[in-house]
Amino acid sequence: MDSVLRLVNPQRESDQRWVHTALAKLAQEAARSADTHLLKLNFPGFHGIDFYFKDEAAHPSGSLKHRLARSLFLYALCNGWLRGGQTVVDASSGSTAISEAWFARLLGLPFIAVMPACTAPGKIRDVQALGGECDLVDDPAQVHARAAEHAARGACHLDQFGLAERATDWRGNNNIAESIIGQLVLEAEPEPAWIVCGAGTGGTSATIGRYLRYRRLHTQLCVAEPAGSAYVHGWRNRDAQAVASQPTLIEGIGRPRVEPGFIFEVVDRVIEVPDAASIAGAWLLEDLFGNRYGGSSGTNLVACLQLAASMRARGERGSIVSLLCDRGERYAQTLFDPSWLAAHDIDLAPWTAALRASLACGRPPLSA
Ligand SMILES: *Cc1c(COP(=O)(O)O)cnc(C)c1O
Repeated sequence: MDSVLRLVNPQRESDQRWVHTALAKLAQEAARSADTHLLKLNFPGFHGIDFYFKDEAAHPSGSLKHRLARSLFLYALCNGWLRGGQTVVDASSGSTAISEAWFARLLGLPFIAVMPACTAPGKIRDVQALGGECDLVDDPAQVHARAAEHAARGACHLDQFGLAERATDWRGNNNIAESIIGQLVLEAEPEPAWIVCGAGTGGTSATIGRYLRYRRLHTQLCVAEPAGSAYVHGWRNRDAQAVASQPTLIEGIGRPRVEPGFIFEVVDRVIEVPDAASIAGAWLLEDLFGNRYGGSSGTNLVACLQLAASMRARGERGSIVSLLCDRGERYAQTLFDPSWLAAHDIDLAPWTAALRASLACGRPPLSA
């Protein structure tokens, strides 16, 4: 029987062999990888409140998108969408492209990243260093259409924005939420009052929000977003057609439109953070951890302090968990370059002072 099939359909047999080998390589990669650390901080202004930051920059490809890229490749392979030798394409502001390039190289596949031309140069270099090709488009709104053109010519579109929310196994499989809750098991406050994350694809917030319900936890989910982003407007009115009222300098979050992976119902609160506050937050993280993290990690820090100030005002104790989303080295020529900040009219001083006052005295950093 086996030999008859082999004669009848040798192409299918060799395609299947390639898929099995690719899946084995992904399983080996997962087995070689360690989980990311949950780093604890306490601040004098917030007595009785423990802060935890999950260091997603520690993944081999430098950001939380390592998890998503692994899931997207698994999803494409198990759906039968991806064959040996096929080019892989996706639209990305950078972090996803770097992680996808990393996995494409592991599987020996050509990779094209469609990116806005304004993407941080460090990220473009990272994609190229991993053997990926960058197709830069001037209008960020055109990245989806350009990725679709590549797909029409035969490339496999990983489609992070379309599939982020379903490619990840939200019930377990050591997704980011299961990992966080597991790592808190011996802590004084193992059930956090809040988990704070940003929203790009919306995949992270969807996974965390669903997992919290699934595990019947009382933890609330806060999405920290650049002021005026599409999710800020969309979440308020449950409007999937909402668009951003202003652009943002913070990469990875603050989408111009509501992406299909963003699940409104699992989010309990959205906090708007001005870009300058997020960047001051990223600089402050370097002081707190001795490592640089990107702008969206700064956004998360500011939102954590804002939530902690409300808890403090109500006399509550507890824990707040958030994410360090990517490595700050990627932004050496942008967020961490004083001349770039000056060129973008960003003055960090008032926000740095507000954040330091918050750490010291428990004040909300965003209060007027
Ligand atoms: C993608 C991304 C996010 C947001 O995560 P999603 O799961 O896509 O919503 C936050 N920060 C950075 C740096 C990112 O690349």
